[in-house]
Amino acid sequence: MREQALLRHIYDRSAPLAGFPGIVQGPGDDCAVVNIQSPVLLKVDQVIEGRHFVEGTLLDLVARKAMARPLSDIAAMAGRPAYALAAAILPMGFPQARADELFDALSRWALHWGCPLVGGDIAVAHGVLALSISIVGHVHPTRGPVYRHGAVAGDEVFVTGALGGSLDAVTGMGKHLSFEPRLAEGAWLAETLGARLHAMMDISDGLGIDAGRLAERSGVGIQIDAGSVPLSHGVASVDHAVRDGEDYELLFTVSPGALPARGECPGGCAFTRVGKVLAGHGASLKKGDALEDITGAGFEHRG
Ligand SMILES: [Mg+2]
Repeated sequence: MREQALLRHIYDRSAPLAGFPGIVQGPGDDCAVVNIQSPVLLKVDQVIEGRHFVEGTLLDLVARKAMARPLSDIAAMAGRPAYALAAAILPMGFPQARADELFDALSRWALHWGCPLVGGDIAVAHGVLALSISIVGHVHPTRGPVYRHGAVAGDEVFVTGALGGSLDAVTGMGKHLSFEPRLAEGAWLAETLGARLHAMMDISDGLGIDAGRLAERSGVGIQIDAGSVPLSHGVASVDHAVRDGEDYELLFTVSPGALPARGECPGGCAFTRVGKVLAGHGASLKKGDALEDITGAGFEHRG
């Protein structure tokens, strides 16, 4: 077939590009042509059957996660997504109707987050279903990109939403398939806090491992207060909240007093103060008087 048929399918579903004046030439030529400012955010991420989703997962959820993962990284820079590119490897024998369904879903989710697909590539090969999504994003117009490396000793550490329990180990389902990339929240924090928003990232592998990464990039230590960590519904222990991963919430540090200890972003997503930035290195979890090193606590393999 099939590649031509599938690509035509993408092109046909890219029709609502009229609402995106930055697109000079959409899919259908050798390259897409877009207007971009300078600098821009670039991100690529992939989802692979058996690693990021279990066999049998609804294609709509697979497409959603494929698009949402790189968008979570755009959110983590306080950016705004602009354009997406999709590359897919379909297993040999993957039915045409399922391929159409998958690309319909990719196009729909891309548009849902304001980030139309402007191009793609499809190959058929022995193996499992794999999708790779690339995103071009705008940096925040006033705050600029928010990096991991801006945290300083004395900062307060916050997270959005609630943590833990993103994957149901029995069914393979859960929040890891249906999370909302915190695009609006990241942009709001940048807008509201400006230079008082010092560092930010998204929590993909777990609060422990990711706080450790932010600390390392900033050359500081991060201490998380176990009693402050907001737990997802059904999560009984802070150890899960620290280690489960795939929360796709924002982890960020701000000047002391820049935000109340608890509050809501516009739209209702909660933010919670969970700790502080110290001189030193690594990430630790404070439980009463005990201090546990959580720098490596999480699922690094999930990427
Ligand atoms: Mg990230």
